[in-house]
Amino acid sequence: MAKANKYVYHFGKSKTDGNGTMKALLGGKGANLAEMKRIGLPVPPGFTLTTEVCSYYYAHKKSYPREMQAQIKDGVRRMEKEMGKKLGDKKNPLLLSVRSGARESMPGMMDTILNLGLNDDTVKALAKFSKNPRFAWDSYRRFIQMYGGVVMGVDKLEGEDKNPFEVIIEKLKKQRLGNSEAEDTKLSAEDLQALVAEFKKLVKQRTGKAFPNDPWEQLDDSIGAVFNSWMNDRANVYRRKYGIPAAWGTAVNVQAMVFGNTEEESGSGVAFTRDPASGENVFYGEFLMNAQGEDVVSGVRTPDPVAKLKKVMPKAHKELEAIRTKLEKHFRDMQDFEFTIEERKVFMLQTRNGKRTGLAAVRIACEMVKEKLINWKTAVNRVPAEQLDQVLAPIFDAATLKKTKVIAKGLPAGPGAATGRIYFNADRAVAAAVKGQSVMLVRVETSPEDLRGMIAANGILTARGGVSSHAALVARQMGKVCVCGAAKLVVDYSKRTLTVGKLKFKEGDYVSIDGTSGEIYAGEVKTAPSEVVQGLLENNAKAKRGRTYKNYNQLMGWCEKAAKMQVRTNADTPEQVKNAISFGATGVGLCRTEHMFFEGDRIDVMREMILFSANYSDYKKSLMEAISELSGQQLLAKKRQLRKDHIEAITHFEGALKKLLPFQRKDFEGMFKALNGLPATIRLLDPPLHEFLPHDKKQIVALAKKMKVKPAEIQQRVNDLHEFNPMLGHRGCRLAISYPEIAEMQAQAIFEAAANVQKKGIKVQPEVMVPLVGFRRELELQSDIIHRVAKEVSAKKKVKLNYLVGTMIEVPRGALTADEIAEVAQFFSFGTNDLTQTTMGMSRDDSGSFLPNYQEQDIIGNNPFAVIDQTGVGQLMEIAVKKGRSARPKIKLGICGEHGGEPTSVKYCHTLGLNYVSCSPFRVPTARLAAAQAALA
Ligand code: PEP
Ligand code: MG
Repeated sequence: MAKANKYVYHFGKSKTDGNGTMKALLGGKGANLAEMKRIGLPVPPGFTLTTEVCSYYYAHKKSYPREMQAQIKDGVRRMEKEMGKKLGDKKNPLLLSVRSGARESMPGMMDTILNLGLNDDTVKALAKFSKNPRFAWDSYRRFIQMYGGVVMGVDKLEGEDKNPFEVIIEKLKKQRLGNSEAEDTKLSAEDLQALVAEFKKLVKQRTGKAFPNDPWEQLDDSIGAVFNSWMNDRANVYRRKYGIPAAWGTAVNVQAMVFGNTEEESGSGVAFTRDPASGENVFYGEFLMNAQGEDVVSGVRTPDPVAKLKKVMPKAHKELEAIRTKLEKHFRDMQDFEFTIEERKVFMLQTRNGKRTGLAAVRIACEMVKEKLINWKTAVNRVPAEQLDQVLAPIFDAATLKKTKVIAKGLPAGPGAATGRIYFNADRAVAAAVKGQSVMLVRVETSPEDLRGMIAANGILTARGGVSSHAALVARQMGKVCVCGAAKLVVDYSKRTLTVGKLKFKEGDYVSIDGTSGEIYAGEVKTAPSEVVQGLLENNAKAKRGRTYKNYNQLMGWCEKAAKMQVRTNADTPEQVKNAISFGATGVGLCRTEHMFFEGDRIDVMREMILFSANYSDYKKSLMEAISELSGQQLLAKKRQLRKDHIEAITHFEGALKKLLPFQRKDFEGMFKALNGLPATIRLLDPPLHEFLPHDKKQIVALAKKMKVKPAEIQQRVNDLHEFNPMLGHRGCRLAISYPEIAEMQAQAIFEAAANVQKKGIKVQPEVMVPLVGFRRELELQSDIIHRVAKEVSAKKKVKLNYLVGTMIEVPRGALTADEIAEVAQFFSFGTNDLTQTTMGMSRDDSGSFLPNYQEQDIIGNNPFAVIDQTGVGQLMEIAVKKGRSARPKIKLGICGEHGGEPTSVKYCHTLGLNYVSCSPFRVPTARLAAAQAALA
């Protein structure tokens, strides 16, 4: 007989099938429950339904493999045996939890059901057996609320700000206790029994169905609901944000319940083996007496710090401390774990690698190396590259802060400084952010539905919930500044006000929060650079003594040791260059020379050149014709005549170029000096000319006056230069093919600057880059000019110039014919902004109108202008690398599109074998870390 497929993996005294390495099959939670059981930690028994069941479920119209039911029955029987209880038993009923557990944790995104197995009979049995009716009815009302919501779909209706179950609780508290905000624990067994009746009524009213009594039916439907939650809206949003494939599926864990809500000797908690916000090596976390785990994470009640447990239950605290050490030694990473204390006995319900802020990640990685828990290579891999910018994020400006009053304090849950306008719900927060406002999402507590609002906000502020509440977890992962559990805040959703003592804020008013200290300020507070930035860029001695600065440097040192690729920077000014070098850049990978023309008066000179370019072009054309048709005296006379006829165009066009030359030369001198010997890739003029032109009437009139021409004349030339698709029009090398004088002037400026700086004893390595090349001949024409000018300058200045000429690969034809182009080019730099635009046929400027919808409908995963589309654009890059190297084996290869600072793209560039990536100065550290991680992978 063929062996039945295994869908159920047990963990318990009788046997444990799985282990910690089986995350793909058992999900993170399931694999680690098995692993904890294996290392002897107190885990209640249970089983895991594999992720393969989830895949089967979605591939077979939401049905299950035939063998599964029998395996589930076996699993429940094993739990019954170990616990000495029975599912649905009228004397001593076994209760179960049903929880999701994907390969990567998705906190709060999927559903959970606790206390399953309760019904009108078993609740009485539980009350009798436990001698604690209050506990029994409390468990039952929780079960109805969870099951009613998750399985039967009883939730907020449109326009309702609150969960309908919560509305009933508050009403009852008001009735019985005189205060709707009173703690749940104040409700008596009778109150809770009344609540159960009300809840059931609500379920019947909203669904038309009675609440089910059969525990097996409850179990089947709960498992289905958890599998369904894999595809719910918030899980989809989360997966998209974090690039988790839908095909992975979730596992489902069914486990015997242990109870934290059996009165005062019990409780539930969430703890971290180190502080997840700062990274400090302390036992960190919180617990609630007489509560179930959900109370701690939902933020409904504000828990106590675990340190307090030492006083109230010293034995349990000691046991947890020992578990903390054992976990770190075993998993060699900071753990985030859930525990329940049932009548003084500690049980472990979950452990996983803890989410942490970028700041904490750096500190933990460095300190764990010192503690010999991990080696430096592991440390480099432990800091998510995309989170490193958190250590570069601004803090509040100390001077402004001194003058600002702290109005309240909450728990510091996501470090950094944030200021923004208050919005009380996610939709309005998103709308405001779309309008360009800085947003502070203020909620009583956040729930997973607020995810979109949290993404849109600069900072998140809540009145309730602890550092492990949903708000805190999600904020930390997103690198959002967050303060939670600020009890002094009174949020009124209906009036859209926030009251703090005597102060009242309306929606749209500013508040500021410090997610490192937990302080809250009225109004907008100026921000200042981080300690790392102050140390590196401002050479601030105090900052340099700081822990964060030192850890950052340590980490970057390791990165340098590991990385194979260099990281250059995209910079156009000496200041940007200096900053980037402080961050570890090894040269300029892209200097966009056009940016240099926007400064001060230069724009007018540039405009002068452009406005006369068409007439100048006519002159050149006639001149060429004359040269090919005439000779001797006739030619001379014709030349003179042409010059006379076009004198205005010649004066303005050539004159403007002459005026631009010294500006450019000075700019390049500044850049070469700042580089102090490092190489600089300088790109010749690239954008369509009309980008420089005045567009409104006022500007046109002003320019006409300056140039002493009629406004109508300028308007006419602006019209002439209009293009329907400027991105595909007269730009890039096409400009200098039409006007070689521009390339000549720029090359002259570059080489003269190089010669001047070299004469001062500074090494200079210019790499002149021609944009938008798709044909070998294009590059050849430009390259001839550049080499000729270099020769001339070298002779005139009597210096030897050390330079390269290369091209951008940014149109598909350039990539496809890279072998031909490489015969001329000494280097390639991938312009993945244009390459993405032209490969996809999607405008980089206009795709915002449909890309979000494309992501929503899973047509594309990431935004291709942020993350390289490896399947499409990547193929062209691979071809270009291969063909380029076939023609010129040692060709230097880099990337200077925006992707050069995005971690997954940087890692991809490593696999392509590029020599360097280039990105904006503040992204240099992230790119260095990603390059090191790629090399260590
Ligand atoms: C590119 O196209 O990727 C590039 C770097 O050039 P630009 O963004 O200036 O077009
Ligand atoms: Mg480009």
